[in-house]
Amino acid sequence: MAKTGRTKVTIRCNVCGEQFTLRGRRGPAGEVETGFKQCLCDNNRHFHIMEDGS
Ligand SMILES: [Zn+2]
Repeated sequence: MAKTGRTKVTIRCNVCGEQFTLRGRRGPAGEVETGFKQCLCDNNRHFHIMEDGS
């Protein structure tokens, strides 16, 4: 349980360059879940994800 927690994530779209800052939650497998689905440009696969504050 100690591995889970809140984190801030910046997601940048590799297609159009749009950036999104989201609050995420780290899951037990080390994945960060933000609920983010897709960019405004319909890209839903090609992102650069940066996790802040770690
Ligand atoms: Zn985009």
